[in-house]
Amino acid sequence: MSRTARATIRLDALRHNLGVARAQMPTANVMAVLKADAYGHGLLPVAHELAALTDGYAVSCLEEALPLRTAGLMHRIILLEGFFDAGEIPVLSARRLDAVIHQPWQIQALAEADITTPIDCWLKVDTGMGRLGFLPEDAASALEQLLALDTVGSVRWMTHLAHADTPDHAGTATQMQRFGEVAHDARPVTLPNSAATLRGLEPFADWIRPGIMLYGASPLIDADLHPPLQPVMRLEAALISVKWLPAGHGVGYGSRFVCPESMPVGVVSIGYGDGYPRHAPDGTPVEVVGRRCPLIGKVSMDMIAVDLRNAPMATVGDRVVLWGEAPLATTVATACGTISYELFCRLTPRVERVYR
Ligand code: PLP
Repeated sequence: MSRTARATIRLDALRHNLGVARAQMPTANVMAVLKADAYGHGLLPVAHELAALTDGYAVSCLEEALPLRTAGLMHRIILLEGFFDAGEIPVLSARRLDAVIHQPWQIQALAEADITTPIDCWLKVDTGMGRLGFLPEDAASALEQLLALDTVGSVRWMTHLAHADTPDHAGTATQMQRFGEVAHDARPVTLPNSAATLRGLEPFADWIRPGIMLYGASPLIDADLHPPLQPVMRLEAALISVKWLPAGHGVGYGSRFVCPESMPVGVVSIGYGDGYPRHAPDGTPVEVVGRRCPLIGKVSMDMIAVDLRNAPMATVGDRVVLWGEAPLATTVATACGTISYELFCRLTPRVERVYR
């Protein structure tokens, strides 16, 4: 690959972060959330690395689950959105994949399915997220219907929190209370995502579902309160141009940035065609030869420009870190008005992933 953009994935950091999740909830089983190509980190390399450390995997859909089975990973695998049409049910059964059940039609489809191996189900309760799941008042009836089907194996309870990233949010307590009122039988339950795991919410959950924390980014505003996570991805590219521009010279499309004085400007070979956020404003941090420098001018498809006044020694070929240990992906995301999840997921295949 002749382009210089590269995402280095630190597998030791991945293992460390899974260890943090386990330490937070020592009695819980872990289902590592690997949807969206393991949040852009690469489904199979991440799955293999965590195989000996995790109890299961969570993915979005069948297409994300099948490569795991084909690779010989026989863990419990949960499809977080369940199945999208009845035609998928025989495949779920044959490949022993668990389905999240969140709509009445799915129960009906299971009732009509012609399968010999029953499907393990996770009955999702909408305790306040307002997204997928049966409302608490409908959950008991849904459970009863599922239990009556011989196409259904075990049934577990599940819910998802809307505010776990915010400290002491009243909505979290309400959701947990509603969940407790529904899921009070002996069935296993799963509630915590990364935020709830890091906050130690629902310490007796049978399963936790950490996603973003495995990749080393904290979803919490008060991130200093939990054990440190190690960033897994370092996104780098190289300086392909360094030159002095005179005062008053514009930089990039529309000349959003105008040089206030004669100054060194570097061009880095990464842009929105690689998944770098096009809306990154002037000042978004990048690190050049260990020095923090601000992005200047609009992000192009293949390039960004940086103000090198803080790194005047930088030369063509020097590597630039877009995110990693510094700057953190969350810092870049905040500067760009987004979240680390989106930065990771939007990296395009043009960025080479290197595992070490
Ligand atoms: N559980 C469900 C149902 C999800 O949709 C997600 C991710 O969006 C997760 C768990 C993992 O969340 P996080 O990456 O915040 O840990």
